[in-house]
Amino acid sequence: MTNSIYSVSKRTIYRTDYHIHTTFSDGKEPPEEYVNRAIRLNMKEIGFSEHITLMPDTQDWGMDPERLPEYAERIISLRKKNPNIGIRLGIELDYIPGKEKITQEIINSYPFDYIIGSVHYLGDQTVDLGPEFYLGKDINLIYENYFNLVCEAASTGFFDIMGHPDLVRIHKYKPLDDITHLYSMMASAFEIHDVTFEINTNGRNKPLNDFYPDRKYIPLFAEHGVPVCVNSDAHFPLRIGQFFDEAYDILKRSGYSEMAVFNKRERFLIPF
Ligand SMILES: [Zn+2]
Ligand SMILES: [Zn+2]
Repeated sequence: MTNSIYSVSKRTIYRTDYHIHTTFSDGKEPPEEYVNRAIRLNMKEIGFSEHITLMPDTQDWGMDPERLPEYAERIISLRKKNPNIGIRLGIELDYIPGKEKITQEIINSYPFDYIIGSVHYLGDQTVDLGPEFYLGKDINLIYENYFNLVCEAASTGFFDIMGHPDLVRIHKYKPLDDITHLYSMMASAFEIHDVTFEINTNGRNKPLNDFYPDRKYIPLFAEHGVPVCVNSDAHFPLRIGQFFDEAYDILKRSGYSEMAVFNKRERFLIPF
């Protein structure tokens, strides 16, 4: 579905960056600084996506849900002050089985443009904070559990965009077995449940030194017709749009000709 409200020239890519953290969660600058940077970069849209984890141990990197009204108001006020760039209101919400009720309440209570669904936790530990998580464990099993949980998250209907869908690669622990079947399972789950995935370029700044998901499997997502967008997961303004040309190139070579944009939780596809 392509919508004519978006002006698209053949040569200019409609650049969006929907995965951004500010001082409302664990980002380093207030939202205004990211907007200024995005305008300088000629981005068409940026979207804010503070962490909401619903776990007790995350005061240092998550936003207290009680701050949601203040957050929403601040982002919406930025829209009025900056009419030349699209400013979207999102959140990055952890999928935590058993917390469906509060998850639904949060999603329903604010005028979000999109919800990024992320899995950081396997049980009560996060897969991304340090390599300790992986030591002495069965890496095949960790991958299987992680991919199953991301697919389960996609099936809930809570989320529009699945964030860094193979974050479990972050510390470079890899299964010895071939795991193509896990990516096939993920691509068909995303297709069936009609969610978008992101190429998250921030993996380049991590021990992994590459994007999520693994570029090798992106053609699988294209074959399943899963919509995609490119996001930086920026925690400071200089990282907005980082490595995006490389990501666009991967998408083109993988068979993509459109990217997803969001407005009030409605998705549109824009050719590039
Ligand atoms: Zn995340
Ligand atoms: Zn993030």
